[in-house]
Amino acid sequence: MRCAANTELVDRVPVPSGCAYRAVFAGEPERITAELAVELRRVLERFAEEAGATAAKPVRIGFGRGIFGHHQVGRAADIYAVNGLRLDGWKRCWDTAQCRAARAADKSERRLIVETEQKQNLGWRLYKALQLYGRWAQPYGYPIQLFGPWTRSEGPWRPISNFLLNAHRDHIHMSK
Ligand SMILES: [Zn+2]
Repeated sequence: MRCAANTELVDRVPVPSGCAYRAVFAGEPERITAELAVELRRVLERFAEEAGATAAKPVRIGFGRGIFGHHQVGRAADIYAVNGLRLDGWKRCWDTAQCRAARAADKSERRLIVETEQKQNLGWRLYKALQLYGRWAQPYGYPIQLFGPWTRSEGPWRPISNFLLNAHRDHIHMSK
């Protein structure tokens, strides 16, 4: 006789790769629910295509392992890196560009700096794609379950606490 918990484990699938992106892992791929796998693949494929990636030159998305909450039931995933650069690295590039923009001589120079960064920063672009195209869990009484280095400035849950923001400085967490 198989218990319910085992049945759930059997139903889980590895985090999928797509055509224009590769899911990469430090160890064994995390196993997630089919529902989360489908959603991730849909959103990551769109992100990759919009970023100009192709099957011949895919963007690499580095996943890590989560322990708490939705991770325990395969409903959550954590992304730590894009094309080999960690998300805290992408965030530093982003912050540096924002500082340069703030010191810009005029409006058009400021706009150019911001637009260039928005185009080149794959960490920010990934976060925005997950935010704009993803349909993530929102448990009753809780915020939408998408947290990362840009949550306070970009949303969806701008009043994110310092504690939760600090816990997501180097990765993006999403659950479905
Ligand atoms: Zn997580």
